[in-house]
Amino acid sequence: MIRFDILTLFPQAVTPYFQEGIIKRAQEETLVDIHIWNLRDWAKDKHQTVDDSPFGGGGGMVLKIEPIFKAIQNLRLKKGKTKVILFSPRGRRFNQKKATEYASADQLILICGRYEGVDERVAKYIADESLSIGNYVLMGGDLPAMVVVETVARLKAGVVGEESWLQERITPEGGFREYAQYTRPEVFSPKEKTYWKTPKILVSGNHKEIQTWRAKHSRKIE
Ligand code: SAH
Repeated sequence: MIRFDILTLFPQAVTPYFQEGIIKRAQEETLVDIHIWNLRDWAKDKHQTVDDSPFGGGGGMVLKIEPIFKAIQNLRLKKGKTKVILFSPRGRRFNQKKATEYASADQLILICGRYEGVDERVAKYIADESLSIGNYVLMGGDLPAMVVVETVARLKAGVVGEESWLQERITPEGGFREYAQYTRPEVFSPKEKTYWKTPKILVSGNHKEIQTWRAKHSRKIE
């Protein structure tokens, strides 16, 4: 069981995503535990202020350190391995290997930035890691948090496939093997005299050849 704690200004945007499909079932089966928190709950003033203007000037607002500090103090499990992740476009690039590494934690606390970003002291003193999901700038860390939860959750046995299935697919380096798939109809004809076919080997029933085909048409996602 792995626990995810998502710290966000928009819990209502994040919540519904995890109430559907496989990830919903994984929670019901207590394979993963997902908690979504409103950062404002840790703001001390009556207006629940979580942001302020940046030192040095410039437009926009910056998320303050105090509410984040308090939230992490509250949310961190007393026992077990916790990783605190701050989302930033300047962070280390998220990939499959990172996901495999995170999957062995007991808890991931995911801090979603917003506006012009987060007081840099959060990256320096609070988070274990700053993480980017790609070389582009989003408006917030909410989508990145969903990306990380989904990628890590599917590496837990029972969420998508059994332990043995995972062992086959996870590479020794912590990557994941993916290959092309086909399903019925075997031949699809979008217009006259045009036939989009399934490779014969896949419908041959010869498991050894199918394995070879798959190995050849697979890619290690690292
Ligand atoms: N000036 C900030 C970025 C602000 S973007 C900085 O240099 O860090 C607003 C928020 O969106 C960020 O705090 C981060 O949490 C999130 N974000 C934007 N792009 C992202 C990306 N590619 N990967 C992860 N998080 C991102």
